Amino acid sequence: MQPSSVFGEAIIIVGTGAAGLMTAHTLLKDGFTNVTLITRDKSVGGTWAKQRVYPGLYINNVHGEYRFSDLAMPQPIGSSELGGRLSGIDMCRYMENFSRTFLEGKARILVETEVLNIQHIKGSGWEVQTNSVNSDACFSSLQTMRCAKLVLATGGCSNPRIPPQLSNDSAGRANFKGIVVHSSAFATEIDNILTLTNPTARESSKGPMTEVLVIGGGKSSRDIAAKLAQISRRVVVVYDKADPFLAYRKPLPDVIRKSRVLGLLSGHRVLTSGLERFLHQTWIGSRITSWLWRQISNHSFDTFNIPHGSPLRRTHSLFWNIRTSDEGNFRPDNYFALVQTGAIDVVSGTRAMGYTDDGTSVLLSNGDKIACKVVVLATGYSSSWDKIIQPQVASEIGLHPHVPRTKFNDKEWDYYTLAEPPAGDPSNRNWSSSIYRGLVPAKSIGDRDIAIMGSLFTENPGYTFEVCAHWVASYFRGDRMRLPRSVDEAIAECEIQSAWMRARYPNSISWSNESYSGSYDFWSWPQAVDELLEDMYLPSCRSGGNWLTWAFQVIDLKEISTLTEERQVKRDRNAGECFDVL
Ligand SMILES: Cc1cc2nc3c(=O)[nH]c(=O)nc-3n(C[C@H](O)[C@H](O)[C@H](O)COP(=O)(O)OP(=O)(O)OC[C@H]3O[C@@H](n4cnc5c(N)ncnc54)[C@H](O)[C@@H]3O)c2cc1C
Repeated sequence: MQPSSVFGEAIIIVGTGAAGLMTAHTLLKDGFTNVTLITRDKSVGGTWAKQRVYPGLYINNVHGEYRFSDLAMPQPIGSSELGGRLSGIDMCRYMENFSRTFLEGKARILVETEVLNIQHIKGSGWEVQTNSVNSDACFSSLQTMRCAKLVLATGGCSNPRIPPQLSNDSAGRANFKGIVVHSSAFATEIDNILTLTNPTARESSKGPMTEVLVIGGGKSSRDIAAKLAQISRRVVVVYDKADPFLAYRKPLPDVIRKSRVLGLLSGHRVLTSGLERFLHQTWIGSRITSWLWRQISNHSFDTFNIPHGSPLRRTHSLFWNIRTSDEGNFRPDNYFALVQTGAIDVVSGTRAMGYTDDGTSVLLSNGDKIACKVVVLATGYSSSWDKIIQPQVASEIGLHPHVPRTKFNDKEWDYYTLAEPPAGDPSNRNWSSSIYRGLVPAKSIGDRDIAIMGSLFTENPGYTFEVCAHWVASYFRGDRMRLPRSVDEAIAECEIQSAWMRARYPNSISWSNESYSGSYDFWSWPQAVDELLEDMYLPSCRSGGNWLTWAFQVIDLKEISTLTEERQVKRDRNAGECFDVL
């Protein structure tokens, strides 16, 4: 039994995105009574907070993949035409409803409150310094809060990543006459952008002046370009190589899209089943696996009739990349369809290098210039940890990646499917995540006073974050768990996981940021959550089925809806037993 005082201990959760909200709910269900959530946004939802979503923003996930087991999610309007995809506004409503239903009145929720600094007071918790970011407040309200346990749920997409040569300062130095907006501010800046630019009739869309230049080849760039083209703004998108995507003429059946199939085809660090070993460790299996990924990729291009040689085909590989968006069904107002009709122009194979001295254009690495009135930087995000955790605190608790103590051979995983990887940056070998299971800094594993939520990079945040939240609740309570026996063991485990991430996704480390560095389990999230369930000594592979059907069983959130009770039963059974925990 853990001391009952643990339930009254103050817990601060930084972040009210999906990860923060789910953690708070799980801790409250477990009996913790003193939970505070902090966000600098005006409302809850994180990426899906009201001020960050706009009509036309769709999420990657199919319906049911981005929700929590305690709250049903209504089918979105027009679900079948959209291939089951939800809009950003649907997500915002769901997150707000979740918070209203389960958190309001039970946890403290501080909005428009920025965390400025976090200090660790060894043995007695954390000091969190905050400031109000309410623009109506006429005075600064710096505050220092104390807590026994801290959850960093700050997400990997909350601080804009802006290449210095494209920043507002660089634009200012070049007297650029237009405006520069990062994609994170698109929802708040859209009216301004529309005022500054002119609608262009579709027929004359090949006119000389680009109204908006969108820089980047990811999902944000596509969503923003499509939104602007839908309201008749002339848009050019520039990227070197774009992120891959899924699309289909008819929704993929649930037995493929919502089952373990894509996870099994993706492969995992440990191959626990004969089917996985066949798919990845035999020559014939690897041919089948590679062929299936190629078919999925080709089918996605064909859905939008994208011809060979089109810049839209200049994408990273679906298999080797963790940044895939699911575009759902063919829709005439989708980015790919709009490019095909000429409503959006695409310039690929080149990069934006800066602003020209005449103040009118952006210079590309191929020497071309694009004159424009608005530049949207869809250049990604960086972690917010550097800003809130000073280097010496990060080093003390073991937050930052480290140089691995053990050198792993690149061919550690003898999978045929990994035999011909794309070139990765050789300096990646000097990198290892320090976050055990993507949930706890390895160095702090014995302290049970800090957890990270949202660092496990997954295609199904709903299911994954829910299981992670239970893992964290058990960890904070001191439940009996399968944990490393020492810090060294935890660090060694992080190093193996990182070596796997390098072997599986050689290019992604340079892309991703620290907040996502814990674990890349994009398609392989079912295998990753199984490990977490087993850490709690709970049954895994919950979708069931027999030897023939298990891979195709639809994964349903209902299967994890009783985790609180199941963990309690384990606890009751273990009461009175002696066991070693870290
Ligand atoms: C435009 C866009 C589209 C996306 N689309 C998808 C998608 O379709 N599917 C998908 O799975 N993922 C998508 N993502 C990734 C998305 O970020 C994650 O799915 C999800 O939102 C992660 O939830 P989270 O709670 O970890 O982080 P977030 O939702 O990013 O929440 C982070 C929270 O931390 C708070 N915070 C951070 N720093 C501070 C600070 N210093 N002080 C106070 N508060 C702070 C923020 O205010 C926010 O409340 C998208 C991201 C973006 C930006």
